Amino acid sequence: METVLYLAHVQHDGTLPRVALETLTAAGEISKNLSTSFVIGLVGGDLKKAEAQVRGSGASKMFGVQGEEFSHSRYSSDILAVEALVRKANATVILVPATSRFARVLPGAAVRLNGRIDTHVSGIKVTGGKLEIQRWYYRQRLVSTFSRAVRPWFLLVDSGIFPTWEGKGASIPMEILKVDLSDSANKTEVLGFESPSSSTQTIRPDAKLLFVAGAGWTKKQGDGKTHPKEAEAIILGFLSKTQASLGSSKSLVDQSSEGEPVLGFMSHLNQVGQTGSTPRHPKGLSTCCHGEEPHVVGWRFINERRAVNLDPNCGWAQGKTDVLYVADAFQVMTKVNELLNS
Ligand SMILES: Cc1cc2nc3c(=O)[nH]c(=O)nc-3n(C[C@H](O)[C@H](O)[C@H](O)COP(=O)(O)OP(=O)(O)OC[C@H]3O[C@@H](n4cnc5c(N)ncnc54)[C@H](O)[C@@H]3O)c2cc1C
Repeated sequence: METVLYLAHVQHDGTLPRVALETLTAAGEISKNLSTSFVIGLVGGDLKKAEAQVRGSGASKMFGVQGEEFSHSRYSSDILAVEALVRKANATVILVPATSRFARVLPGAAVRLNGRIDTHVSGIKVTGGKLEIQRWYYRQRLVSTFSRAVRPWFLLVDSGIFPTWEGKGASIPMEILKVDLSDSANKTEVLGFESPSSSTQTIRPDAKLLFVAGAGWTKKQGDGKTHPKEAEAIILGFLSKTQASLGSSKSLVDQSSEGEPVLGFMSHLNQVGQTGSTPRHPKGLSTCCHGEEPHVVGWRFINERRAVNLDPNCGWAQGKTDVLYVADAFQVMTKVNELLNS
């Protein structure tokens, strides 16, 4: 019989991130379908808030690794915490939310424990008592469902697949494990954080809306001139009002290296598509972007799509969006900003 461990770390405010609460729902569902119970393992500076968030999830036991030295993301201490929790739970299947902190540590932990790991898990089900996972390949063009015999099996679960767990019901006691850190595990000192300014902090994975800007924003418009400053003001105005996440086409982010006018807050990190990212948001709005396949493949997980383009024959018109507004995005977004301000 499988022993399922749900493994998560808390954020600096002591709470679990959304993806961790989604993975907790997965742990409950999967354990039920495997006719087994599951164990919770938490890591962080202070686990009190997280204890409340996981209430009523159906876990049979809860273990924690807690303390100042575990409050920051640090490979050498995190891997010891993970190892202690997996050993304590005697886990065969370990479900882990795909945060950057654990995505860095878990592959190493899987090797240490002589197990296997699969990242970017986008579906989990139990068929005939056997656990199967789903994963996309070749930039989300091919999907594969498979299982593994090797245990322990670590699964890094992507966001946006399961509903978030709303902690309610009874809580269970947490047993705190003592994890001794050697000098070498303490060698890296975390000094603090430097956050980018609010105008450059444009990638918001938890946003309800993905706003994509394409190269059209910096192209010559009807008056024969480019208007990058105006474009910048319209886009930033919209983002600050809506807190949408900003995506880009490759052409727009490539322009800086080609000496063309650019939007200062845009970087290759914003690029969506085959050679960019595949974000997950309930809705997406594309503006001044042609909607070519290498870009649209990055929209695989955007549920509701709309686009604004001057060209009625652009890529979006070929069945790639739910609604295409054939219109000038400068005018449309200026009007939208006016409405948002009123
Ligand atoms: C191997 C490979 C990998 C690639 N990977 C990626 C990737 O990861 N991501 C990606 O994005 N691309 C990728 N591309 C490039 C992709 O094929 C396109 O070239 C790119 O997406 C085009 O960007 P764009 O639509 O912003 O620019 P353009 O093709 O220049 O389109 C600009 C659009 O803006 C519209 N427009 C102009 N002014 C206005 C206005 N005022 N109002 C409304 N619309 C207006 C125009 O009608 C036009 O449709 C890749 C290509 C290859 C070959």
